[in-house]
Amino acid sequence: MKVPMLDVKAQIESCKQQILEAVHKVIDDCQFIMGPEVKELECKLAGYTGSKYTIGCASGTDALLLALRAFDIGAGDEVITTPYTFFATAGAVANVGAKPVFVDIIDDTFNIDPAQIELKITPKTKAVIPVHLFGQCADMNPIMAIAKKYNLKVIEDTAQSLGAKYKGNMAGTIGDIGCYSFFPSKNLGAIGDGGFVTAKDQAVAEKLAILRLHGSKPKYYHSIIGTNSRLDTIQAAVLLAKLPLLDGWAQKRMENAQYYNNALANIDGLRTPYIDPNCHHVFNQYTLRTEKRDELMKHLEANNIGCAIYYPVSLHLQKCFEYLGYKQGDFPISEKAARESVSIPVYPELTKDQMDYVIGTIKNFFN
Ligand SMILES: *Cc1c(COP(=O)(O)O)cnc(C)c1O
Repeated sequence: MKVPMLDVKAQIESCKQQILEAVHKVIDDCQFIMGPEVKELECKLAGYTGSKYTIGCASGTDALLLALRAFDIGAGDEVITTPYTFFATAGAVANVGAKPVFVDIIDDTFNIDPAQIELKITPKTKAVIPVHLFGQCADMNPIMAIAKKYNLKVIEDTAQSLGAKYKGNMAGTIGDIGCYSFFPSKNLGAIGDGGFVTAKDQAVAEKLAILRLHGSKPKYYHSIIGTNSRLDTIQAAVLLAKLPLLDGWAQKRMENAQYYNNALANIDGLRTPYIDPNCHHVFNQYTLRTEKRDELMKHLEANNIGCAIYYPVSLHLQKCFEYLGYKQGDFPISEKAARESVSIPVYPELTKDQMDYVIGTIKNFFN
């Protein structure tokens, strides 16, 4: 048997007709830039997330960049975030000229530890970017309380967690701006790059909408300096076709995760993912932990089971961030997670036979 880490093809096949019709229509209409599907998707996503304002953009990375720029964050400013995330989170901060300041994660959830945020706040701190990693929300209540106390903006990196909930609230709608990605491996994937932002405040939303269009309003009149970060009409059309299926897919991911969690509980030396009772987890990744991570991966690969490390290097130890002056040992929980985590297939199209094969192969290894 073969179990790939992700099976994008299986998902596309399951809704190919709707996707082809949607793409066909865009090609017939020829409104490739900011066509009506973009607006329609923005409205549907506003409804889905329950956010007041929703703005499509070119990627999840751009969503973060636009959010930082909407708050005029740049040179001389500091932004607090986690070192255990995809590069884009801290990359965006550095790309606007601000300084990423890291705070270690909580061992159970892989998410930023709110108890350590206050220690890192300086007069230069402008914002916090909690990341809802792997489909589960960061502990937002204490983060929002700290942000209020110090007058900081909260930008939620929701790239992996569209549809996740924290105490009943949709991920990305708790802070000031939510940033989402349609990268094909995310829970709602485009057939290329794409992303969107949600905002609470009308003026902020307006600024975000203008920033992605070169800062122009009306056309050819620029009061602020923006960029080209539009969501393609074709991607919007594909996403409109897929959106109705999102909750069903998330449900399958959750069921798959629960199936693994039950089968893999009580294996010495293996930790299954922790599900925070305050959260509705949408399992973009199912991440195991073991000190024998590298050997386990070899065993899985030898048995044709895909697996991946998210993430092998904590961001404070990346070469490009050497100038920040961090060293090994600064964020021990994050460093440990980088050494021990391995994600295994959890995508909705997995069959029970495939999961049983994965479970059997893991049990074999630990025996
Ligand atoms: C995927 C991802 C991004 C970037 O999204 P892109 O659409 O690939 O630019 C940002 N942050 C996190 C946590 C991600 O997983």
